[in-house]
Amino acid sequence: MMNVEDARAIVLDCIEPVGVEKIPIRSSLGMVLAEDIRSDVNISPFDNSAMDGYAVKAADIQDASPDNQVILRVIDDVRAGYVTGKTLQPGEAIRIMTGAPVPEGADSVVMKEYTETQDDRIVIKKAVKPGENIRRSGEDVKIGDLVLKRGYVIGSAAMGLLASLGRYEVNVGRKPRVAILATGDELVDVGEDLAPGKIRSSNSYTLFAQVLESGGIPIDLGISKDDPLDVKTKIQTGLDYDMILTSGGVSVGDYDFVKEVMTELGLELKFWKVAMKPGKPVAFGLIQGKPVFGLPGNPVSSMVTFELLARPAILKMGGHKKLRRPEVVAVLENDVKKRPGRRHYVRARVSRENGSYIVTTTGPQSSGILRSMTLANGLVIIPEESDGKKAGEEVTVHLLDRPESE
Ligand code: AMP
Ligand code: MG
Repeated sequence: MMNVEDARAIVLDCIEPVGVEKIPIRSSLGMVLAEDIRSDVNISPFDNSAMDGYAVKAADIQDASPDNQVILRVIDDVRAGYVTGKTLQPGEAIRIMTGAPVPEGADSVVMKEYTETQDDRIVIKKAVKPGENIRRSGEDVKIGDLVLKRGYVIGSAAMGLLASLGRYEVNVGRKPRVAILATGDELVDVGEDLAPGKIRSSNSYTLFAQVLESGGIPIDLGISKDDPLDVKTKIQTGLDYDMILTSGGVSVGDYDFVKEVMTELGLELKFWKVAMKPGKPVAFGLIQGKPVFGLPGNPVSSMVTFELLARPAILKMGGHKKLRRPEVVAVLENDVKKRPGRRHYVRARVSRENGSYIVTTTGPQSSGILRSMTLANGLVIIPEESDGKKAGEEVTVHLLDRPESE
């Protein structure tokens, strides 16, 4: 049987970024820049005050101290957002607020805290160096600077920086549109009645969320019956999108039609069955050049196979280069039993204690127990050949989330 790493490599080999689009910066969070961003402005555009205080000539107050106070005449007042028309002459000061442009003739700002007002004069009790408390034009960004490189993943700081450069639109990797199809006669949607023998299609929701988290646009194709024609029609609809994810019906049961139908539709099968647990029966291939995953039906198997095989593919389609989750080494708090053969991904809770990671598994690991996924922030990786791990041993954990503290 194929191992997880080979399966992942095969998937990624079949995947290309889906393209580039120009979108408003507010819509670009988490997306990948498809252009180099150079600045055509200085930030800040002008020298401005870093403090509330008085714009002065440093030479005028070079001997100022609490015992040697210097008195200057205040000739104007300048707030952030305005300019003074006046030019400072020796012996003068201009009251200035943080962010306001430094007046002509001034070379420094003395903080308000070292001054005292006296009618239209100001008493200064501290010297300043030329340039003190002034933020120079271009201190953050200069004209021509390469501020963000192609491939950068846009976060909050980059969004703000783009705004300050006057960019309200930006070229990014387009988000792939991913069709999701649940299969099974037993499945109903959330709002429907639970007749005897029926269950709700949780996979339609976990996969929807996982696609979103991977930077894709999920399209729910609903639920298909275990009926080849129904499955076929819905998969055909799915071919309008960039990728198809089905769940269920891909094993060896009497009503598992998914692979058969995909084959009828011209599936170029790349693999079926991967040596992992949960999630052995997972199929991947191309139909009309579109990547198609047949994920297993069990809720945890569906999530874990998505996480390891479909997530990196969706990231790559969106133009991402970093496709792996962080892994950490942690000390196991409990025994984990296993037979050699497949690689196990054990749901677990990682935390940090005295500078190192510890990890506890989340109890019963049946692939139907979705609740154990809600408790997990990582998957402990137990290698193929291992026959289990004992409490106190070090293990590698695939992080689903950063362990945060309160
Ligand atoms: P299958 O792979 O179709 O044999 O399904 C395996 C198990 O997963 C069965 O117990 C199904 O009822 C369950 N299952 C399949 N699809 C879903 C789904 N969309 N939501 C929740 N459970 C499902
Ligand atoms: Mg089924």
